[in-house]
Amino acid sequence: MKSAQIRDAFLNYFAEQGHTIVPSSSLVPGNDPTLLFTNAGMVQFKDTFLGLESRPYNRAVSSQRCVRAGGKHNDLENVGYTARHHTFFEMLGNFSFGDYFKREAIQFAWEFLTQVLKLPEDRLWVTVHISDDEAADIWQKEVGVSPDRFSRLDEDNFWQMGDTGPCGPSSEIFYDHGADVPGGPPGSDNDDLDRYIEIWNLVFMQFERSADGELHPLPRPSVDTGMGLERIAAVLQGVHSNYEIDLFQALLKAAGKIVGCDDLEEKSLRVIADHIRSCSFLIADGVMPSNEGRGFVLRRIIRRAVRHGHKLGHKQIFFYQLVEALAEQMGDAYPELREKQQIIENALRKEEEQFAKTLDKGMALLDDALATLEGNEIPGELVFTLHDTYGFPTDLTQDIARERGLTLDMPGYEEAMEAQRQRARAAGKFKQEYAGALDLEGATEFLGYETTGAEGTVL
Ligand code: ATP
Ligand code: MG
Ligand code: MG
Ligand code: MG
Repeated sequence: MKSAQIRDAFLNYFAEQGHTIVPSSSLVPGNDPTLLFTNAGMVQFKDTFLGLESRPYNRAVSSQRCVRAGGKHNDLENVGYTARHHTFFEMLGNFSFGDYFKREAIQFAWEFLTQVLKLPEDRLWVTVHISDDEAADIWQKEVGVSPDRFSRLDEDNFWQMGDTGPCGPSSEIFYDHGADVPGGPPGSDNDDLDRYIEIWNLVFMQFERSADGELHPLPRPSVDTGMGLERIAAVLQGVHSNYEIDLFQALLKAAGKIVGCDDLEEKSLRVIADHIRSCSFLIADGVMPSNEGRGFVLRRIIRRAVRHGHKLGHKQIFFYQLVEALAEQMGDAYPELREKQQIIENALRKEEEQFAKTLDKGMALLDDALATLEGNEIPGELVFTLHDTYGFPTDLTQDIARERGLTLDMPGYEEAMEAQRQRARAAGKFKQEYAGALDLEGATEFLGYETTGAEGTVL
């Protein structure tokens, strides 16, 4: 089954079960300034869960575009390292707003996986929260899941959107990709490897967490589920990695052709194929590269992609050329990709052109310094220079460091940043004193890519 057919099968199955099909909302949450990006299907329904907004239906189903590249759910560092994490992905979800609860949520999920998609039961593994006897009983006594493929976990089975907001205990379904893939079952020491891959999370929305950390019961217990489309596509297409599914193969081929790389398993190519999705969709949803907030996260993702192209030996502007391939793959489901193709390409191109001016020099500086590096820590002063003069966000330098088994001296970086602030303040004072006489207006100093908050938690 192709990704597009799986999406349809999911929406249709739940529509038949009385769910209203609701279109994906924007990646920029309309109702929540505390949230960087839409990171789950439930985000557009947050106020409905909280009882603040009523809707003309109490069952909904959606395929929601999500970005997890900052804030509470941040998978940026996982991209290129696991088979299952993207910065951008689609989350299939069914929702009950005070209608059905644990029993039906579990039954629907099981029926969809084993009857509609016809997955073999002995490849599935189920977890519930340690405290949740009710869900455990439904799974074991009613559905008949084997105790050999069942575990009760703690934090992994409690889901929350962010530090505040709706949350609750969850039940998760994993797919066993087989003994030839390294990794252990959920709850074991090496469960973060790619053998047992979490495909579906059923959240029993029962609480709202307030800013002081307290849990308050929701007006009506509800259900929020999320299944990664790319992960279930990998299962159904008989491959072990999301990057091997139809959609990613097409993007990888397009990327490989542009940057001159035939090895579709090459990590940098995967990063590029991942990043073109998040960057294009963010721009389509109105985010533009900038030095703060959402725009800064976008800038960081673009620069990472560009650096990976550079690493593959491709020194020309290339990233924007992938929008075409993406629009071919996803334009039917998301017509805005085609409508805004020009805007997306222009924004990417501009950003890449700007970064291309300093990337080569920055890499040369870094390589020179690393050639004589003692120990395995990149000095803070250098991390700062790369950031300040060459436009390397620290997470980009971190990405390079990780590839080479090195770490960053972050306290040293902070010190260098502080010293720069002091100098800027002094320079500002000087300018103020002499501006009138010398007309220095417009000659403001370039202060690099400074942000106000810690990177990644900019909002
Ligand atoms: P994992 O433990 O694998 O990081 P998660 O527990 O963080 O996943 P949830 O927050 O429960 O994920 O999200 C619901 C579903 O969305 C997951 O079961 C998975 O199928 C999918 N998903 C989550 N994060 C990603 C991602 N970064 N890329 C692709 N799919 C994802
Ligand atoms: Mg995760
Ligand atoms: Mg998980
Ligand atoms: Mg989960």
